[in-house]
Amino acid sequence: MADRILVVEDEEKLAALLHDYLVQEGFEASVLHRGDQVEDWVRTHETDLVLLDLMLPGKSGLEVCKALRAGTGVSIIIVTARVDEIDRLLGLELGADDYICKPFSPREVVARVKAVLRRVKRGDTPQDSGLTMDDSGYRAALSGKDLGLTAVEFELLKVLVAHPGRIYTREQLMDAMYRDQRVVSDRTVDSHVKKIRKKISAVLPDREIVHSVYGVGYKYEW
Ligand code: CA
Repeated sequence: MADRILVVEDEEKLAALLHDYLVQEGFEASVLHRGDQVEDWVRTHETDLVLLDLMLPGKSGLEVCKALRAGTGVSIIIVTARVDEIDRLLGLELGADDYICKPFSPREVVARVKAVLRRVKRGDTPQDSGLTMDDSGYRAALSGKDLGLTAVEFELLKVLVAHPGRIYTREQLMDAMYRDQRVVSDRTVDSHVKKIRKKISAVLPDREIVHSVYGVGYKYEW
């Protein structure tokens, strides 16, 4: 079945161009021109990925992104008009899967859409990487070898592994790890990640699977 892409873009010609290009590439594409229509749409229509412009009437792309991230598992690519804004956006904990800067070629957009969807699908089976995670005993293993993670390390790795390639800020990881709202410092996340990496490298010496994203946070990518 074709992947379903929602294009949210108020420049109608650009939206139509993207729509046609995506359809030509075998996607099922829909278009919305306002930010305040997106959450309802995603709730009522099966959607695999949202191409989300930032400057939108009704509701800003930032707010829409936060709401989608909190309430759905849909993949999100943010489209911004300013390349120098991407660093700032990354720091905002939006949880988008990728960022594209205008002006872009539709070909580039399609390539990025395919890359994100490929990553997400690969993420459906982290076992492909030889990684298995057993919730009942907080047991994570690589190629059958137990990593010996603590419960907190297990939770942290689980968050990252759920969406390969997605960048998580330290804050998002802390939220996921400490559901009892304990106050912990950013450093705590760093030190847990350091320990996880050490345990992984003991089993898999020549390969990094938990990557740091400079100035932002961490991601899992095989
Ligand atoms: Ca716009």
